[in-house]
Amino acid sequence: MTITSTRPQLSYLSDQLNQLKNKGTYFKLRVLEDEQDPVCTFDGKKVINLASNNYLGLTTHPKLREAALEATRKYGVGSGAVRTIAGTMKIHMELEEKIARFKNVEACVVFQSGFAANAGTVSAILGKEDFIISDELNHASIIDGARLSRAKILVFRHKDPAHAEEQLASVKDQPGRKLLITDGVFSMDGDIGPLPALCDVAEKYGAIMMVDDAHASGVLGRNGRGTIDHFNVHGRVDVQVGTLSKAIGALGGYVCGSRDLIEFLYHRARPFLFSTSHPPSVAATCIAAFEVLEQKPERIENLWENTRFFKKELGRLGFNIGGVNTPASETPITPIIVGEGRLAMEFSRELFKEGVLGTGIAFPTVPEGKARIRTIMTATHTHEQLEKALETLQRVGKKMGIVS
Ligand SMILES: *Cc1c(COP(=O)(O)O)cnc(C)c1O
Repeated sequence: MTITSTRPQLSYLSDQLNQLKNKGTYFKLRVLEDEQDPVCTFDGKKVINLASNNYLGLTTHPKLREAALEATRKYGVGSGAVRTIAGTMKIHMELEEKIARFKNVEACVVFQSGFAANAGTVSAILGKEDFIISDELNHASIIDGARLSRAKILVFRHKDPAHAEEQLASVKDQPGRKLLITDGVFSMDGDIGPLPALCDVAEKYGAIMMVDDAHASGVLGRNGRGTIDHFNVHGRVDVQVGTLSKAIGALGGYVCGSRDLIEFLYHRARPFLFSTSHPPSVAATCIAAFEVLEQKPERIENLWENTRFFKKELGRLGFNIGGVNTPASETPITPIIVGEGRLAMEFSRELFKEGVLGTGIAFPTVPEGKARIRTIMTATHTHEQLEKALETLQRVGKKMGIVS
């Protein structure tokens, strides 16, 4: 047997990889050798982890681990089919009922991922005669869903409700439906979408209001109920998307809303119809996670305490953590903006050598000239770990001329 290497048919891909190498933005995957924890081992090196979305430390929570094991023993490792054929297990329905009660909505449907939830929902509820009014920094899964729907896409300036209104007004006499859509928390800058003002605009023009709360689930609002709860705009958002892959610690995405919205998605959302449902262990894990959110809100308080401390110290050390020409973070996501893509990638590599994992992010994920290290705080980082991470950031930042 021979291993297939690149044949001439795909050599253009090798050329493009070489271009990335020349630009300094080519990367290799870092491989985690133990658990997703505040200190863990990547590529044989023990590092302080400032890169994971494991906000509440639930990926290794004993109760969640036990729930997964018990469900595996009871129900096996797979669901065996898509939801609409034979792959709806009782535990899937239990999870959806649990989330609907938690979010105080009529109904909920779980998808394989947050990506599938956004892309599947936007493309199902709109068609080519419709309009999508979308924040310029919305997540890629919203953009893909919008493209799949074939609706016309009108982009508004980041967090600018007046511009969103302008865009809506420009199509108000056209027959199609209008969807106004924003991230609850923006994943690259850590700022929060202006939900109350956007709800006002949506209501004024009769538009459908949709919020993607991936980074807000388990982080903002009472017990981590998200931005709708944080701003108290209950009943004003028609479609709420959340993820089970970040603070919840496992994998999946969900849509919350009216019973009819959810039943419609059963019939029309393509990832729901054409891709197999979660293993029972994942559903059981997520049920246990929502129980932890309900019973142990102290975890969320720890997350915010760590967040406040870390942000304050980064600012004191002189790092650019946004706010001038870039949105100011209001959440556990704190960007350290360094400017050029190559410098951000180099900073990330140097930090890693010194025992800190922080993701370098460059164009096209963020605008040209706004490349950064993105840091994410969790509830389970200890004070000692944070002090050590800050000391390393300062030392490496000074050496590279990023701070003085
Ligand atoms: C991470 C993320 C998603 C995707 O969620 P997954 O469950 O990881 O697929 C969707 N929207 C936003 C804003 C995100 O940050």
